[in-house]
Amino acid sequence: MKVFKFGGASVKDADGVRNVAGIIRRFPGEHLVIVVSAIGKTTNALEAVAREAYAGRDSVAGLKQLMATHTSIATELGLSLDLGYFFDQILTQAEKNRDMPFPQYYDQIVSTGEQLSSTILSAYLQQDGLENTRVDARELIITDDAWQSGNVLWVETTAAIRRHLPALLGKGHVVTQGFIGSTASGYTTTLGREGSDYSAAILAHALDAEGQWIWKDVPGVLSADPKKFEDATLLPELTYYEAIEMTYYGASVIHPKTIYPLQQKQIPLHVRSFLDPGAEGTVIATDQKYIAYPPVVMHKTGQTLISITPSLTTFVADMQMADIYGLFSRHKLKINTIQIAAQSVSIVVDYNPYVLEPLMQDLRGFYSHVQVRENTNLQLLTVRHYSQEVLDRLISNKKIFLEQRSRSTAQFLYE
Ligand code: ASP
Ligand code: MG
Repeated sequence: MKVFKFGGASVKDADGVRNVAGIIRRFPGEHLVIVVSAIGKTTNALEAVAREAYAGRDSVAGLKQLMATHTSIATELGLSLDLGYFFDQILTQAEKNRDMPFPQYYDQIVSTGEQLSSTILSAYLQQDGLENTRVDARELIITDDAWQSGNVLWVETTAAIRRHLPALLGKGHVVTQGFIGSTASGYTTTLGREGSDYSAAILAHALDAEGQWIWKDVPGVLSADPKKFEDATLLPELTYYEAIEMTYYGASVIHPKTIYPLQQKQIPLHVRSFLDPGAEGTVIATDQKYIAYPPVVMHKTGQTLISITPSLTTFVADMQMADIYGLFSRHKLKINTIQIAAQSVSIVVDYNPYVLEPLMQDLRGFYSHVQVRENTNLQLLTVRHYSQEVLDRLISNKKIFLEQRSRSTAQFLYE
């Protein structure tokens, strides 16, 4: 059994939905688990609706626009669906949940995007002769109440998936939502932006699938983002190890949490183009194989450099590094890179004022004798399997703030 994941771009309009049906037909005789994201940029639009509604401002215009887009796709596909139900549901949730903390409020509203897309996709596949059942992912994926980035409760989740899906897969395909889950007490949660890849991996893991397929608008995993670097090439094959490294350093092609559940069960992950479904794409599998990689480039903007410098009489060695790490972890701030010298510690993180400001306050309060400085708007370039020639080309004329190299990985922080 295979798990397919279709992202928002693949179902952005009626032709997209027809194309998805075409891809499913390429696998005759198979019953697939099909995970779908919200249509196009719906999640961004719903985020705006949630923000406005929570602040007590009018969000109806945004909702009307979303309703129009979804209704026109359904109509163009010849479906008669009552999508108004979902929009009423958003309005009700927006009204009655005002006293929830915002992240919880967000999840109750933003999760509707996937409910809409899965309703349209399931109905279209059915109409097109592809027998399927639409299953609410909130009955399958059970998480804790870390709103906006729910942590999967594996025991409950595996049991729920195994209880519900095998019988349904006996009859046809299963269509479900990416990105969303629920707490044991029944509140909707989300798994973090772009989390549908991860949803598919959770399902593949629990069902011991033979493989997961992610259908994207790029030919597969590339050696760099083609929008930023011209000589990006397709990587036909990656180990799980390499894929985890790439997503860790900022390759956005796959959600970072996706690989691990697949690696645990040695389930191959195929990344293919929905625009050219017959093309080779990338396969991520096994760690027991030597693969010769070209230089692989990851680039992150919006980076902040935090420099911590002790007073003259104290060396970095005397500072409690464990406390500093503890502070970052308590504030849920992932350290992208860190460099420790005799007289300073440099830490690079993603810029996010909501998280950064309280952290900086804590850091300053923590050691009265240290100086904490902050530099924002920097870029972090990571090159795996680098050659000197490639580095020279990428970083010439850049004002470098920090540089770090291991045998396989070079990193540069610059303006
Ligand atoms: N629709 C969600 C998002 O845009 C989840 C996903 O696309 O994977 O973040
Ligand atoms: Mg999406």
